[in-house]
Amino acid sequence: MSATVYTTNDVNAEALRGKRIAIIGYGSQGRAHAQNLRDDGFDVVAGVRKGGKGWSHATEDKIATAEVVDAVKGADLIAILTPDMVQDQVWKNEIEPNAKEGATILFAHGFSIVYGRVTPRKDLDVVLVAPKGPGDLVRREYARGRGVPALFAVYQDATGKARDRAMAYAKGIGGATGGLIETTFREETETDLFGEQAVLCGGAKELVKAGYQTLVDAGYQPEVAYFECLHELKLIVDLFYEGGISKMHDFISETAKYGAVVSGPRVVTEETKARMRDVLKDIQSGSFAREWILENQAGKPRYNALLNEDRDDPIEKTGAALRSRMAWLKSPTNS
Ligand code: NAD
Ligand code: MG
Repeated sequence: MSATVYTTNDVNAEALRGKRIAIIGYGSQGRAHAQNLRDDGFDVVAGVRKGGKGWSHATEDKIATAEVVDAVKGADLIAILTPDMVQDQVWKNEIEPNAKEGATILFAHGFSIVYGRVTPRKDLDVVLVAPKGPGDLVRREYARGRGVPALFAVYQDATGKARDRAMAYAKGIGGATGGLIETTFREETETDLFGEQAVLCGGAKELVKAGYQTLVDAGYQPEVAYFECLHELKLIVDLFYEGGISKMHDFISETAKYGAVVSGPRVVTEETKARMRDVLKDIQSGSFAREWILENQAGKPRYNALLNEDRDDPIEKTGAALRSRMAWLKSPTNS
């Protein structure tokens, strides 16, 4: 069943009219949401730590600043845009004791709610608005009069207005221009984690490393292996992004196309799909979340060790040397 895509005319903009919005955490998402909402006519305050980077960025952007507790007091909508791993602490110590009755609590990712790290009071609306892009794109597209698509969801509707308010916020950051899709906290969280683990960040990097190793082990030059297995991935991903798998097929040679259809399934097999289902199971059962929370509490020893393994992978050395000659990578305007 395909989803309904809501646009500007489907949004009841009155739902948040005249409301005060506190943006807690002024990082990738916070910075973009605050500026877009301000430009959309909302009364926005950034809840940031004095002396922190967020405070100076907000000041630079001419967004009103306050300590988190002060931003929360008097806010009608509180967007929790700190990193997921600190949301439980910020919630317990600064937000919940100061949130006014009937306020809307908004997340950009459902992790804290789905895994029971934050359990909001019953008088609060709890919603999610998750733009499908990083903060700088959310800001840039808004500034061009366009917008990045967003997901929205309602977890708790204390006032009867939660859904309208979530949609109005999503419109305020430009999402309605890009298109809004309704989801649930659970669907957003589980699919987001699965995508980044199995396909985007985890799957793609392992595929690249394995391809590179296969060629180098077979005696080919590392530089040539780097170009074939990592560098050229960008061309393919751009084609996917612009026109799906069909566009890739339209743009590659007949030989590449035949090789793709016969050999792709020899690499990503039923066995790979069974492993993907394992990854999904660990996400759905909460075992991945528990492991990650414990890892944080222990000071991230395993996380750091595994990250170092990636940093020390031979492909990184080969790549750094080659990229130092790619002048276009140093001036982003030419990318
Ligand atoms: P980020 O790390 O870029 O920014 C978080 C900000 O919170 C930082 O400025 C940090 O200094 C601040 N912060 C940390 N602890 C704080 C505290 N105790 N009090 C006040 N501020 C504190 O994070 P982000 O990527 O913007 O992610 C925010 C939320 O948005 C997360 O829930 C994330 O899952 C979600 N999200 C992110 C993206 C993305 O592309 N980055 C996309 C969709 C959703
Ligand atoms: Mg993600």
